[in-house]
Amino acid sequence: MKNQPLSGNAMPRFGGIASMMRLPVASSAQGLDAAFIGVPLDIGTSHRPGARFGPREIRSESSLIRPYNMATGAAPFDTLQVADLGDVPINTYSIEKSLPIITDFYQTVLREGCKPLTLGGDHTIALPILRAMAARHGPVAMVHVDAHADVNADMFGERIAHGTPFRRAVEENLLDCHKVFQIGLRGSGYARDDFDWPREQGFTLVMAHEVWYQSLAPLMAKIRAQIGTAPCYLSFDIDGIDPAYAGGTGTPEIGGLSVPQALEIIRGCHGLNLVGGDLVEVSPAYDTSGNTALLGANLLYEMLCVLPGVTRR
Ligand code: MN
Ligand code: MN
Repeated sequence: MKNQPLSGNAMPRFGGIASMMRLPVASSAQGLDAAFIGVPLDIGTSHRPGARFGPREIRSESSLIRPYNMATGAAPFDTLQVADLGDVPINTYSIEKSLPIITDFYQTVLREGCKPLTLGGDHTIALPILRAMAARHGPVAMVHVDAHADVNADMFGERIAHGTPFRRAVEENLLDCHKVFQIGLRGSGYARDDFDWPREQGFTLVMAHEVWYQSLAPLMAKIRAQIGTAPCYLSFDIDGIDPAYAGGTGTPEIGGLSVPQALEIIRGCHGLNLVGGDLVEVSPAYDTSGNTALLGANLLYEMLCVLPGVTRR
């Protein structure tokens, strides 16, 4: 019998310890197939702060999620051993010191053959996680949902920030650039050529306005065909979704993806060789309804449901 989320019939959903999906909390990845991990780092944010409280709030809102996926039939707890590994003890005074702490933590998790699903934190954390991913798998394919490309050369003169992780990842050869897809990009820019650099690296960019009102299922079929069996990382910035649904975030942009489109993207990753994923940039102080954290929690559950080895019934 695998770990199961604590049932709402065994303990009221508003009671008990607020682990992710009310799963057991583990101190080691040994024996785990997948794990939820919090990275409460937000010192890379450029505008509204507060994503350090994201993991805690996502866990709190996750208490309503039940184990079986009614839409896809996925039953992740039938075959996968899953637990909540708690938070990475980052140094909140230092990005430079936090990055190796995060990479080391993920390398330990990956050595056990455990697939990490990360509760952010701001998007800076994708870089140290990708360092661990590439150390184990080589350069990885990536599905990246975001309003922003996060490929700035620097921000305020700093090379490490939440708007630079994928520029650094390319420079460090962590990505299989011709198998990188950025979906939901939009907003105002600094210059006409803001998105040229990622295209020059081989990334495929899907602007939000290009897919307004559309199902993203056909796009995901094309992406699956192009990525094939390559190890693939899923990085999901909650600001990829329209602020009408996910306003509790640091750098909101109007005209974003809908929640059904977000579900189509993640469900469309079924069949990919996913090696991990993250859900970043939930900032609870700007999330007065709790809807952003609730959405983030559900999207992480949907990621779990498309990991390799999950059965459908
Ligand atoms: Mn981002
Ligand atoms: Mn963003």
